[in-house]
Amino acid sequence: MEGELVLREVAGEVRQCTKCDLANSRKNAVPGEGPSNASVMFIGEGPGFYENEQGRPFVGQAGKFLDELLESAGLHREKVYITNVVKCRPPGNRDPQDTELAACASFLNRQIQAIDPLVIVTLGRFSMARYFQAAKISVIHGRSAWVDGRMIVPMYHPAAGLHQGSLRPVIMRDFAQLPKMIENARQQREIKASHKDNSSSGPAEDATQLSFF
Ligand code: URA
Ligand code: SF4
Repeated sequence: MEGELVLREVAGEVRQCTKCDLANSRKNAVPGEGPSNASVMFIGEGPGFYENEQGRPFVGQAGKFLDELLESAGLHREKVYITNVVKCRPPGNRDPQDTELAACASFLNRQIQAIDPLVIVTLGRFSMARYFQAAKISVIHGRSAWVDGRMIVPMYHPAAGLHQGSLRPVIMRDFAQLPKMIENARQQREIKASHKDNSSSGPAEDATQLSFF
């Protein structure tokens, strides 16, 4: 199925979903938004108060900061895909629980498969943990690694920069590196594609490259 159709189908299912308890307290589920051909995808934690009101991701204070960060990285919000690991608001903005993350994971998996982004930027530790279970965000933030043929860049959550002032310049510095990392990802993908053309036994493409660079 075409990416756009898959995204629409997933969004429809998310809005009706009752697979975890967050369905009981939500006002609006927040499937995510952006074009199906986005080459960069941002994955946050879960909807907050305003997102729950509007059914759109990152429209509150953290969203305003994210907008600034995107602009500083030369990215247009309408050209990237933005979503969360859980699609319904955890009451009082508590952390999402393991059972909720597990119940919701297939929606995000299908979105990633449909969009097939070159670069995924994880925002905060819950989306980081999808790719790097044992990692510490204070150690790997702003660095990139290849996982399953795409570049993953773990970033601090923008809300962390609002709550903890000292992190704000750190997050801004990390985002300033994004254009360079995206360009690097494009080049790496081209190199991999040409290897594939030239030989049947190239390097293991799908292994996680554990060393961050
Ligand atoms: N924080 C998130 O993690 N996601 C949103 O959509 C908004 C705030
Ligand atoms: Fe369904 Fe995810 Fe919402 Fe839980 S958080 S009800 S799994 S859409």
